[in-house]
Amino acid sequence: MNAISSFENELVHLRAVGNLRSLHPLEHDGPYVLQHGRRMLNLSSNDYLGLASDEGLRAAFLDRLTPENFLMSASSSRLLAGDFPICGQVEELLAGMYGKEAALVFNSGYHMNVGILPALAGDNTLIVADKLVHASLIDGIRLSKAAFCRFRHGDMEQLDMILERSHAKYRQIIVAVESVYSMDGDKACLPQICDMKRHYGNVFIYVDEAHAFGVLGENGLGLAEEQGCIHDLDYICGTFGKALASVGGFIVCSRVVREYLVNRMRPFIYSTALPPLNWMWTLFLLRQLKDMKMRRRHLANLSAVLREALRDAGTIPLTSTHIVPLLAGESNQAARWAEQLQYRGFYVLPVRPPTVPEGTARLRFSLAASMKGKEIDNLAQNILEVKDGI
Ligand SMILES: *Cc1c(COP(=O)(O)O)cnc(C)c1O
Repeated sequence: MNAISSFENELVHLRAVGNLRSLHPLEHDGPYVLQHGRRMLNLSSNDYLGLASDEGLRAAFLDRLTPENFLMSASSSRLLAGDFPICGQVEELLAGMYGKEAALVFNSGYHMNVGILPALAGDNTLIVADKLVHASLIDGIRLSKAAFCRFRHGDMEQLDMILERSHAKYRQIIVAVESVYSMDGDKACLPQICDMKRHYGNVFIYVDEAHAFGVLGENGLGLAEEQGCIHDLDYICGTFGKALASVGGFIVCSRVVREYLVNRMRPFIYSTALPPLNWMWTLFLLRQLKDMKMRRRHLANLSAVLREALRDAGTIPLTSTHIVPLLAGESNQAARWAEQLQYRGFYVLPVRPPTVPEGTARLRFSLAASMKGKEIDNLAQNILEVKDGI
């Protein structure tokens, strides 16, 4: 069989088991999307603070633009001519917000995760990752020369055992975790990992705050801020593409690590920098982040309402955040529920293997501060009806 027909066969199989993915062109209207003339509340976006859908913010930003500063391309890598003054401004602001020595920004969170670990982890390194870390972290680990093992999701005892057993065998161990897990919506216990690290001189912690940056913590810095352990974490990473409504990934770290990454991190070195326009928008929003407390509080309230409603119905979600999953089991079941909810005006998508383990297909409701309490009550009601086949 030639390669193309084997691709075709595989696609036919994916369709049969309900795992075929496809693109869905959508029009956007604030917290709603429009498809085939149907207007739906968008529960599949990572615009957690509602900043991306906020026209007032965009208007205020547009006021600052002139033909001189409206630069749509950096035209080269940061190391060539792409290091505009605004890059340093964003990085200094970020480092200051966290009270860390330095920060470095990347083209995306994906670049960040596929680039940092291979740069930092040599062949004398063990990377220990939570079983549920994001695909981009797995890709970064695969690209690195490090030895690699995983611990069961959130299982601190198993992590401790691995550290105890392995710390003497390696020059360094990097523990890689997320702070809020995107598919279960649960939180890591960062202080417990920091406690373990203290027992050893060669353990470093890498935390990806992709779903928590902007959302958690008094100033929106993430779970590390909420759990009071910013200073015990070696590498705090995040993305601007989710709650911050912009684009790019970042790390806050020591000055030495920043300089090392500038010299060794391939996706940083070999890719054109983000356009100055995007840096400006990021800076514009970062400056306001600490004052977005009302949005964070409203989002927390909405999330509590949805979690409670689903809990009362006997579906106990694992989540304690703004990401609320509803387990369906088989992919086809998840797809059916999603279709029915879309019909009822809620844009939710099934999450299927390989994104989640086989047999744990689910719906994933991503809430946003731009939603109203009434809409979430209505959503909860509709979820229960669809689930009960009403
Ligand atoms: C979305 C995500 C990324 C990728 O970030 P982008 O800026 O979208 O490339 C990385 N890590 C985690 C945990 C994510 O959820």
